[in-house]
Amino acid sequence: MALIVKKFGGSSVKDYERVMNVARIITDTYKQGNDVIVVVSAQGDTTDDLIAKAAEITSKPQKREMDVLQSAGETISASLLAMACQEMGYPAVSLLGWQAGFQTSSAYGAARIKGIQTERLRRELDRKNIIIVAGFQGLCKYDDVTTFGRGGSDTTAVALAAALHADRCKIYTDVEGVYTCDPRKVPGAVKLDEITYDEMLELATLGAQVLNNRSVEMAKKYNVEMEVLSSYSNKPGTIVKEKIAMEKMLVRGVTKDADCARLSIVGVPNVPGMAFKIFSKLAARNINVDIILQSVGRDDLKDITFTVARAHADEAVAILHALDLTANAKIIKDTSVAKVSAVGAGMESHPGTASKMFEALYEAGINIQMIATSEIKISVLIEQDKADLAVAAVHKAFFPEG
Ligand code: ASP
Ligand code: MG
Repeated sequence: MALIVKKFGGSSVKDYERVMNVARIITDTYKQGNDVIVVVSAQGDTTDDLIAKAAEITSKPQKREMDVLQSAGETISASLLAMACQEMGYPAVSLLGWQAGFQTSSAYGAARIKGIQTERLRRELDRKNIIIVAGFQGLCKYDDVTTFGRGGSDTTAVALAAALHADRCKIYTDVEGVYTCDPRKVPGAVKLDEITYDEMLELATLGAQVLNNRSVEMAKKYNVEMEVLSSYSNKPGTIVKEKIAMEKMLVRGVTKDADCARLSIVGVPNVPGMAFKIFSKLAARNINVDIILQSVGRDDLKDITFTVARAHADEAVAILHALDLTANAKIIKDTSVAKVSAVGAGMESHPGTASKMFEALYEAGINIQMIATSEIKISVLIEQDKADLAVAAVHKAFFPEG
């Protein structure tokens, strides 16, 4: 007998048929004598619909009310799924975030899990109930309902698996696992059997939709092995864990992130402290900077170029204009860019990965504007219109048989 945590995303519970399908998957596991805790997301596009309803009323909703509103999506799917299990003749109980013991910070809309009081969960398991937990929600110190941010149900599942020392944590979705590329866009995309937390974290952060990056961070921290698999098929998925068997595959994924903007400050004084002055001001306003490039100074001037999330571009430009040290500099904003990245733990020990990526881009006639590398990632900034072409070309270079 094992304790198994299963999480089902919105598409897996979107309507009556899908809810009954999920109820079958979980009651099968229960029937085999396992303890089962299930985490559900809101059905289909419910969260988007709820946000749209709020927008009809106000453009400045209180964050607290947005959390009350959005938590309702998961409340609905949890209760429906519990009813479906009961209808099939199994004991089940739905628990909202606070009932499942989730204590969080009071950052509405982006709450952090501070702890899980597991008594109620243990009690329900002792009663042999299948527990259905409403994902992405908890309670803060003011006794207010909080939510964890978009895609936060994955984090609920990993947190439960960690707190209860579950034997397995299965994340069910509408694809069969983690792929080397988006299988809907790149026909040669290959499903991975295994991937490391670090690789998954890079892929999740770089825009692969399959897992929320905070859930991967938490899984790494508490060493929770996850499996990403499909709720539509019976096939094994992708295991996410600390270390995997050495493989020949250098690159494990190629992603595109179009949510970026490139900002340049052309002609800042070539004196110490400029980078500090610029980036500390951005940091103070919580603007995350990604790739940074500084030119070699000439004629006492230098250029600094960097990328930010597109939503922060205008605010960042305003901050740059307000700095006196950049008074004579020219500030340029370009939002027609995208970042394409290749990720793989194997590249650390294999020279030549970057040149292979650059060759593929050259052959596809794509100009590289900026380059950034880490031990397990190479990112290039390119023209946005060419991003899909770039992804396909780079993917083909590393997965020729794909
Ligand atoms: N329902 C929330 C969302 O759509 C949380 C989740 O699905 O994980 O973002
Ligand atoms: Mg999701």
